[in-house]
Amino acid sequence: MIKYAEISTEENEVLYGPGRRIVIWVQGCSLKCKGCTSPQFWDYDKGKEITEEELIELCICDDLEGITFHGGEPMEQSDSLLYVAERILPKGKNVVCFTGYEVEELKRSSQIALASISDILITGRYEESKRNVYLQFRGSTNQKVLFPSGNFTDYKLLDGQNVSAIKISNDGDLVYNGFIDPNMVDLIKSIVGDN
Ligand code: SF4
Repeated sequence: MIKYAEISTEENEVLYGPGRRIVIWVQGCSLKCKGCTSPQFWDYDKGKEITEEELIELCICDDLEGITFHGGEPMEQSDSLLYVAERILPKGKNVVCFTGYEVEELKRSSQIALASISDILITGRYEESKRNVYLQFRGSTNQKVLFPSGNFTDYKLLDGQNVSAIKISNDGDLVYNGFIDPNMVDLIKSIVGDN
């Protein structure tokens, strides 16, 4: 069983990876980086549940390129996410995995295996003092983008753009994904109102 906050189909390469893909924001993160843009995903007592088989079923649609494990902290649910990754990779899908851990910090066998079979792996804590809103996948310059599977070693990072996804939740709140330029936040609030 996987504890999650949100699952959606996204097409935004700068934020989530190549092509149309399932993105799952898992629920729960013990790292609690100062300045994290998603503190609502920290609490393990919140969120919903989906089985591994249900998530696999969502991923194997013909028009989807793969899955992105976002957070929250995917490596804290590595047994389940590894199970999913191992079953969709042979079907021609790819895997992007975000983690706040460094590779050297991964100790459990399922964490090490999930890191090593990921096509694109983004590692490291968000460090507020190193914030940079113009990096693909990363919010601070200490974070790394790795290509462990070897299938994406020619991938050219799309740095230099500030890309964010802005949605209005069912509760009417503005929800930001990505590291939005603060000036842009002010502009949006001036247009739609401050939630
Ligand atoms: S690892 Fe990610 S989700 Fe967890 S606190 Fe850090 S930035 Fe937030």
